[in-house]
Amino acid sequence: MSMGMPNSSVTDAARLLQFDREHIWHPYTSIDNPLEVFLVESADGVRLRLQDGRELIDGMASWWSVIHGYNNPELTRTIREQAGRLSHVMFGGLTHLPAIELAKALIDIVPKGLNRVFFCDSGSVAVEVAMKMAIQYFFAQGVTGRNKFLTIRSGYHGDTFHAMSVCDPTTGMHQIYQGVLPQYFFADAPSCRFSDEWREDDIFSFRQLLTQQHRSICAVILEPIVQGAGGMRFYHPEYLRRVRQLCDEFSVLLIADEIATGFGRSGRLFGCDHAGISPDILCLGKALTGGYMTLAAVLATQEVGRVISRGEPGVFMHGPTFMGNPLACSVAVRSIQLLLDSNWQENIARIESGLQRGLEPCRNLPGVHDVRVLGAIGVVELVRPVKMARIQRLFVDNGVWIRPFGRLVYVMPPYVIGDEDLATLTQALCRVVEMELSHEQQL
Ligand SMILES: *Cc1c(COP(=O)(O)O)cnc(C)c1O
Repeated sequence: MSMGMPNSSVTDAARLLQFDREHIWHPYTSIDNPLEVFLVESADGVRLRLQDGRELIDGMASWWSVIHGYNNPELTRTIREQAGRLSHVMFGGLTHLPAIELAKALIDIVPKGLNRVFFCDSGSVAVEVAMKMAIQYFFAQGVTGRNKFLTIRSGYHGDTFHAMSVCDPTTGMHQIYQGVLPQYFFADAPSCRFSDEWREDDIFSFRQLLTQQHRSICAVILEPIVQGAGGMRFYHPEYLRRVRQLCDEFSVLLIADEIATGFGRSGRLFGCDHAGISPDILCLGKALTGGYMTLAAVLATQEVGRVISRGEPGVFMHGPTFMGNPLACSVAVRSIQLLLDSNWQENIARIESGLQRGLEPCRNLPGVHDVRVLGAIGVVELVRPVKMARIQRLFVDNGVWIRPFGRLVYVMPPYVIGDEDLATLTQALCRVVEMELSHEQQL
């Protein structure tokens, strides 16, 4: 098909969308019966501009990543300049300034003790890398049989095989891949909410599993404080402190998956900071490059690095082709500078109160189970799952980009969102949820 025909742009757009529908797989969609997709022409600040001229306020920050907004002049300039110097070079045997600067910047801001940096391509791969590190850590010491993982329910860690194996066993993909996925241990999800009073019994299930199974467990992996795609739950910092203590007690490594929570989203730079703990291994991704490029990083302690390197096989066995890509590293360095140079804590607090105020009207709607806000994350949990195709279109018709899943309608906008746009975003969310719920009642 020819895409450059001198037709009206509407016809062009229709043709492009038809090609897309007939040939392209989108995330979690059917090829035969695809959900509607919208053609984005450009984006600026918090606005997505569609091909047909409509503008949408983005409530998703492209899945947590675009924290400084789209087409940020500083980030765009950085990546342009870097492209003129060095777009890519293999990382085996070679290194470069952007990777070194990024490693420095990360070590400075992450929870203390993490000073060995491994760069990789995406969040899921970072989780694979972290899990391989934990297995190698015990293998290198000649300890056999400590190669299983303990996690908590309602988690999400990515779509590759080992990442899937520690996603929630009910909402994850365990059934489809039965017999292929390794079977690991799942403690109950924390039920004590972020600002509840701490209840001692919340840690029982975790403690019991670790007590019984620790001889076969190399690491605990979890998302600190905010469980993202597995349920958008915010749990109590004391839970995380207990997990850290118990990992120490049983000499099990702690892997913190901060791919969603990293870089200020929850109100602290990292989820672990709410509890004042450091993991042994930390996974970062999503907002790392301000949403400009795919990049992830795994940070480990000196101890983990040393043990892996001193035993057999003496090296850490991983090395992706695009490891430490200079474009991605350079834009990540700039993104971190932008964040640290801003009044980010005050700003996230401003968004937090805007979300609290703006989502409050949802609370009393019949069909709404819960409304919760932490940092720049706002969640409206419904009683029943949404009708995806319908609600998606309603959001677009109401000038916002919000993409719910299941019973969860949630927003985590770019940090640069102004108060007025934030109010427009939450008003549209409430209006559409109300329309959706009343439509359901009529059925
Ligand atoms: C998104 C996410 C991942 C997976 O990252 P990808 O870049 O999509 O592979 C892993 N863990 C958490 C907590 C995430 O939110």
